[in-house]
Amino acid sequence: MRKLELHWKILIGMVLGLVFGYIMTGVAGGETFVSNWIKPLGTIFVKLLKLIAIPLILASLVKGISDLKDISKFRNIGVRTIAIYMCTTLVAIILGLLLVNIIQPGDGISEETITKLTDTYVNDSGVTSKLKTASMQKSKGPLQFLEDMVPDNAIAAMSNNRLMLQVIFFTIFLGISILLIGEKRAKPLKDFFDSLNDVVLKMVDLIMLTAPFAVFALLANVVVSAGDPELLVALLKYAGVVVLGLLIMIVFYGILVAVFTKKNPFWFLKQMSPAQLLAFSTSSSAATLPVTMERVEEHIGVDKEVSSFVLPVGATINMDGTSLYQGVAAVFIAQALAFDLPLSEQLVIVLTALLASIGTAAVPGAGMVMLVIVLESVNFPPEKLAIGLALIFAVDRPLDMFRTVVNITGDATVAALVAKSVGKFGKPKPKHWDDHLDEVK
Ligand code: ASP
Repeated sequence: MRKLELHWKILIGMVLGLVFGYIMTGVAGGETFVSNWIKPLGTIFVKLLKLIAIPLILASLVKGISDLKDISKFRNIGVRTIAIYMCTTLVAIILGLLLVNIIQPGDGISEETITKLTDTYVNDSGVTSKLKTASMQKSKGPLQFLEDMVPDNAIAAMSNNRLMLQVIFFTIFLGISILLIGEKRAKPLKDFFDSLNDVVLKMVDLIMLTAPFAVFALLANVVVSAGDPELLVALLKYAGVVVLGLLIMIVFYGILVAVFTKKNPFWFLKQMSPAQLLAFSTSSSAATLPVTMERVEEHIGVDKEVSSFVLPVGATINMDGTSLYQGVAAVFIAQALAFDLPLSEQLVIVLTALLASIGTAAVPGAGMVMLVIVLESVNFPPEKLAIGLALIFAVDRPLDMFRTVVNITGDATVAALVAKSVGKFGKPKPKHWDDHLDEVK
């Protein structure tokens, strides 16, 4: 089994999970069995990944910044990262809007399907809870996100995975201050974070040993909790447009990697594949973050000075897949419900989807919450919002899986681009969980 590469093991786990889940849907009590006995394995795995996300950000970002030895380099990395993130997100939204306008998936959808989807999902707790969360988000002012980024209590920030940007803010502050006290006095703290960083990366390796079993559990659960297959089929054209857009984004990243880093894009995607498969299985960029960081640093060769900043920031603010989906979904809903959405209004979508992708939490289903805000920005009638969401709810989970893959691939691509541009793209140096096992024995 050791010979088989990790991504193959994960892929086998995923396929077996899908098949097992499918079989269980046909067995009496199958759904309950999966939910009681299989799902917890997947949940524990996701919890373990989330458990190490904050210590990893803390250790690797402090190490990254304090290794820089020069603050102006950090400014360079910061400016480039944000600028490239904005550009890739804009490309994603515009691509989504182009595809949905050309293919028009919402036009052919029958009244009967709309009624059926509405009846099934309009009062679904998934839809109502998303509307509620969106209305809470909306009541905030335009600069609220900056205010939210600054913690008033470092420990409180670290105790909540949703406050990742606050942790990043505190860590950057800490890292810069470590740089400023001079090498000699900073050494004990730097050594501590260096060592902590190695330890947390080892934890990632150990957790990844269970990944093939965990994805089995995660996917079996997705299959047994999926909606009526007939409704899924009705939305095939819409889902197809989103998936087509996401595939084009992957090609786009491949081109960026080839042109700007001169690396083979297939090699790049292969190195990223374990993280992509996990993103697909967990639907969460935040849960995948530790693995994304490990792959980008050890297997692609991006220096920690870059990856430790670009990736955690990307997981929270850069969501190309989600932005593309928001563009497509908003126009699809408008088409299906015959709501007029001229091109000028669609430009508003470009802006709001860009901001929404910054505000979207890196957890399953968050993109749909921000979709509400995108729809409101084009004056979509509020009384029809629930109907709009009901229309696309049936396929939201599978699309979430695909868009999360694109979200993390986008982050990794930008990390490679920024690293290349500041001369921090080195040789890959993969580590294994048992590298030091002899010393322990
Ligand atoms: N699940 C996505 C992520 O974590 C966000 C979303 O599109 O819902 O990246």
